[in-house]
Amino acid sequence: MASIFTRIINGEIPCYKVAEDDLFFAFLDINPLREGHTLVVPKKEEDYIFDLDDDTIAGMMLFSKKVAVALKAAIPCARIGVAILGLEVPHAHIHLVPMNSMEDVNFRNPKLKFTPEEFRATAEKISKKL
Ligand code: AMP
Repeated sequence: MASIFTRIINGEIPCYKVAEDDLFFAFLDINPLREGHTLVVPKKEEDYIFDLDDDTIAGMMLFSKKVAVALKAAIPCARIGVAILGLEVPHAHIHLVPMNSMEDVNFRNPKLKFTPEEFRATAEKISKKL
């Protein structure tokens, strides 16, 4: 069965899209640690990130860089934190989290709530900086 992220990429499940190219897709995490918390996923479905072939994992990092630069321009912060967990969704992904302190990337923190309008506005703000 296709992963939830493949279904998002295919447009079967809605998301707040930030960026896309032929191989990768970026969208807002629905349970964000911070405003702008973004997930970068390869369109090719693979559970564990380190099972991806070399070209895909290298391309994923370059795509993440573009998104991170736009994210930092859109959401002022000290830097963009990068995390790879994959404990919940078995489709490789990179978390990009605007951060000012280490506490901002503590995945045990309560997640923030935003309205659909707020999520849409955030995604648009980031994608405009691409
Ligand atoms: P992990 O697999 O541990 O890296 O966590 C998966 C992340 O995907 C979590 O932060 C979830 O909030 C996020 N997530 C799960 N389903 C969706 C969805 N439909 N749209 C956006 N983010 C999601």
